[in-house]
Amino acid sequence: MNIILLGPPGAGKGTQAERLVASRGMVQMSTGDMLRAEKNAGTELGDRIKAVMDAGELVSDEIVSALIDNCLAALKPEQGAIFDGYPRTAAQAGTLDEILGNNGRRLDHVIELHVDEDKLVTRIVGRYTCATCGAGYHDMFKQPKVAGTCDVCGGHEFKRRADDNEQTVRTRMAEYRAKTAPVIPIYEARGILTRIDGMADIDTVSAAIAAVLDGTQTKA
Ligand code: ADP
Ligand code: ADP
Ligand code: ZN
Repeated sequence: MNIILLGPPGAGKGTQAERLVASRGMVQMSTGDMLRAEKNAGTELGDRIKAVMDAGELVSDEIVSALIDNCLAALKPEQGAIFDGYPRTAAQAGTLDEILGNNGRRLDHVIELHVDEDKLVTRIVGRYTCATCGAGYHDMFKQPKVAGTCDVCGGHEFKRRADDNEQTVRTRMAEYRAKTAPVIPIYEARGILTRIDGMADIDTVSAAIAAVLDGTQTKA
């Protein structure tokens, strides 16, 4: 099964992908994570990516599609893919269809996490992750069970993203509205889109996604 988690910054895509990886053995394909890895590699490409990401703008379709293509080719046939943060433009949506087709795959579900934009700044500025394993946390909404210790790996170091500040978030939301939201009707027309209330608590959102993947909920 191959699915897309769609929604603006802070909607909960990464949080839900992390849970699907743990519960279903699916593989998370986060272009944001791939780009951050490239950025940290300190290559010339990485430096160009850094400037675009720090401004909250979108990296070129060619760069992200190449990253997705490479990662998908490395998957075992029985592993399902969760696309998190990709596609972000109509052009990327078209490319994803091609890449999936070339790999003998198809898209089963597109899950739109529907959220109240005014509340997203709070989610974004409170976000942090484990520096060792990448598990996601939030200052208010998802604290580790033991303060300062990662629930997943026991690590004690955490990090915050350079672009998780209020100014950049506004640009990222505007980018989402202008360039990413237009992909929603494409998937709606194909009958594979389900809209879920992303403002519910994390467990409730997970249950709603599970119902879609298990076919126990009707589509939007
Ligand atoms: P995205 O990947 O869509 O940008 P994240 O999954 O990283 O979003 O979530 C952003 C922040 O909000 C994280 O700190 C996460 O712990 C928190 N979060 C995610 N889902 C919820 C939710 N349903 N309710 C409250 N906080 C949430
Ligand atoms: P969020 O979890 O807040 O939605 P991501 O980690 O997915 O953010 O993306 C962070 C940044 O990386 C984006 O603001 C953008 O600059 C870049 N990026 C990630 N995915 C894509 C993509 N599919 N196309 C273009 N740029 C992307
Ligand atoms: Zn950890």
